Amino acid sequence: MNLAEKICYLCGATKYQYRPGKVRDDKSLKIVECLNCGLVFLSQIELPTDFYEQSRMHGGEPLPIELWLRETRKDDERRFRYLNETIINRDILDFGCGNGGFLKMAQSYARKVAGIEMEKRLHSYFKTNGLNIFQNIDALDKSERFDLITAFHVIEHLQDPAKTLQKLAEKLSVGGCLIVEVPSSADALLTLYESVPFSEFTYWSCHLYLFNSSNLELLAKKAELKLDYVSHIQRYPLSNHLYWLSKGKPGGHQAWSFLDDVNLTSAYEARLAGLGKTDTLIASFSR
Ligand SMILES: [Zn+2]
Repeated sequence: MNLAEKICYLCGATKYQYRPGKVRDDKSLKIVECLNCGLVFLSQIELPTDFYEQSRMHGGEPLPIELWLRETRKDDERRFRYLNETIINRDILDFGCGNGGFLKMAQSYARKVAGIEMEKRLHSYFKTNGLNIFQNIDALDKSERFDLITAFHVIEHLQDPAKTLQKLAEKLSVGGCLIVEVPSSADALLTLYESVPFSEFTYWSCHLYLFNSSNLELLAKKAELKLDYVSHIQRYPLSNHLYWLSKGKPGGHQAWSFLDDVNLTSAYEARLAGLGKTDTLIASFSR
């Protein structure tokens, strides 16, 4: 891709700047930021076609499923708590469901759960664990509709996220909503603390786009959907941030977990949310 000819996927502007930092697994890529809308994207937004099918997202050896489930448990629980009310007795579809941890939790409360996951090796695990998972959207029954469709940390991996959102929205029942969780390009470690080690760690060749909250409005417009709300969520607590600033390394939420308590964590999250600088955004779209 020649950047001089590149127009912003969301707003069509052609002026951009390079963000400081490195793409951790591909140093040849540049981190581009649209000067008009702030969309962050990589200088190349293409991955091999079988990349996700063949488990290549995990880098070398694919992660054993049990270990992966332990890693995502906190996120699965947080998402389950967040959506609790909309899960009970509803039909739910999780797009890009990964190891299926969220669906496994939702299964006991929902009327019906289904998932979409491209990674082929997972499908035998899904079968033996009673999860109804399809390889892609087109494999779903044409008439099937869902009250809640979720996509956690998926759409930033897609070359044309608006098109996929549109396709997913066609599967919504009347009054249903599409909940999308993405990493935020306005993360305090990048845009407030300007941590150099973090900026050389967080960018990843699989994250083709990084959105801020107003980008999600533009995305809704492009997908011809309604944006109901955007929530600012902080996945990592203060200990993690202080550790990055002091040691320049990840893992502070484990090494310095003694710093965090429930009150401090929620107050810090609220403060970052007020500044629009949390690490995570949750958006609700509807038709
Ligand atoms: Zn733009």
